[in-house]
Amino acid sequence: MDLYAQALAAARRYAEDRSTRAVFPTAEALEGLGAFESDLPDDGLAEEEVLALLDRFGSPASVMSSGGRYFGFVTGSSLPAATAAHWLATAWDQNSALAVMSPVVARLDDIALSWIADLLGIPPQALGTFVTGATMANFTCLAAARHSLLQEQGWDVEAKGMFGAPAIPVIVGEEAHVSLLKALRLLGFGTDSLLRVPADSQGRMRPDAFPTLTTPALVCLQAGNVNTGALDPAESLIPLARASGSWVHVDGAFGLWANASASSAPLAAGYEQADSWASDCHKWLNVPYDSGVAFVRSAAALVAAMGSTASYLPSGGTIEAMQRSPESSRRARGVDAWAALRSLGKKGVAELVDRCCHHARSFAGRLEEAGCQILNEVALNQVLVALDSDERTTAWIEAVQRDGACWCGGTVWQGRKAMRISVSSWATTRHDVKISVESMLRCRPA
Ligand SMILES: *Cc1c(COP(=O)(O)O)cnc(C)c1O
Repeated sequence: MDLYAQALAAARRYAEDRSTRAVFPTAEALEGLGAFESDLPDDGLAEEEVLALLDRFGSPASVMSSGGRYFGFVTGSSLPAATAAHWLATAWDQNSALAVMSPVVARLDDIALSWIADLLGIPPQALGTFVTGATMANFTCLAAARHSLLQEQGWDVEAKGMFGAPAIPVIVGEEAHVSLLKALRLLGFGTDSLLRVPADSQGRMRPDAFPTLTTPALVCLQAGNVNTGALDPAESLIPLARASGSWVHVDGAFGLWANASASSAPLAAGYEQADSWASDCHKWLNVPYDSGVAFVRSAAALVAAMGSTASYLPSGGTIEAMQRSPESSRRARGVDAWAALRSLGKKGVAELVDRCCHHARSFAGRLEEAGCQILNEVALNQVLVALDSDERTTAWIEAVQRDGACWCGGTVWQGRKAMRISVSSWATTRHDVKISVESMLRCRPA
C-alpha cells in the first residue's frame, strides 16, 4: 500500500530530525498550523494529499518529545519496538473490550499486565487492567476501594450511590498529585472532605504526622512526587493504615518503576503491601500514548465496581477487560506494552530506569558545580534547579525554552520558583545531557 509507505517514509524523516530540530516548534511552524483552519470542505481529498498536509504542516508543529532532550513534565518517548508494534496493532484495528473481539489482544494484555506487576512489585493475584493513564488508573483503583470500604459498612454503593452513604475518611498527602484529587472528586469524595497529611522537605508524607484512625479509611500514598521524584515511606505508613483496617492505594505513576531496578528498588520498599496500585506505561516504560495500568488486590472489588452485564455480552469464564475498567471499546494497549517489555527484557527495563536516574544525577552535579542550586535530593529521575531569585529562575526557564536545544518546564517548590528536569526517555544519551547543560548555562541570565 503506497499510502502506508508514504506514512512510514514521513515517520522515518521525522525520527531522523530528532537530534537536530528545535525541541519546541518554531514560531514559523506554529504559524503553519493556520493551513488546517477551514470549515469541513464539501469535497474529499486524496489520501496521499491528506497525509502530505499532515506531514508538511503537522510534523514541524509537533513537540520533539520523542527525542532525547525533552525534560518537561514526566514524559517518556516511545521505544522503537513499541512504536512499530503500535503501528501494526493500529492496522489490526482491534477492539479489546472482550476476548471474543480480539483473542490476540486479550492474551497480550494479560501477559503484559503480569510482567508489569512483577516489575512493580505488585502481588501476582492482583487483577490488572490497561487504561488511558494514571488519572484513570487512580480512578479505577479508587472505585474498587470505595466499593469495598462501603460494603464493609453495609452500604451497596453501586446500587445506592453516594448520597446518604456512611462517611469514609480519605487520607492524602499534602503533595498528592492533582489527578488523584480529581479521581477522588469524580467518585464523590469532595476535596474539602480530605484529610491532608503534612509532607517533609522532599514532599513525602510524614509518618509522625499521620492521623490516628479509629475506623477503616481510604489512605492514598504516592510513589513518585511529580517535582522531586520522592516516594512516600510505605514501610512506615502502611502498617499505620492497616491498624484501622484501611484500604491503601498507591499513585505510582512513574515512581513505582523504581522497583524495576535493584539499585532503586529500596525506595519502593513496602509498596507490595498495598491494596491497589496505579501507574503509567507512557511515562517510564516508554510506550506510545496513551497507556496506564491499574491493579487491585481484590479482584472481586474491582469487578464489583467496574462490571456491567447485558444480554448480548458474554458472561462467566474469564474476567473480560471491560469488567475491570471504566472503558468498554478501547485500543490494544497491551500490544505496545508487551513489545516494549519483550524487547527490553527485565535487564533492559532496569537499565532504562538506572540510566535515567544516572542522567538526572549528572544534570544535578554539573549544574551545581556551575553555581546553580539543586532544591531536591536527586534519588530518582527528577531534578529541581533554581537560581538565586525567582525572577532570574523564571527568565532562565524562558530562555532555555527559546534556545530550543532542550525543553524544561517550571514549577514552584516549597515557595521557590524552580526549573524541572525530568529524565524519562530511553533516547536520552550522555551527549544529550551535555548539550542540554551547555544550553542551560548559556541561557542563564546575567
Ligand atoms: C503523571 C502523573 C499522574 C497523571 O498521569 P496521566 O498519565 O497524565 O493521567 C498521576 N500521578 C502522578 C504522581 C503523576 O506523575
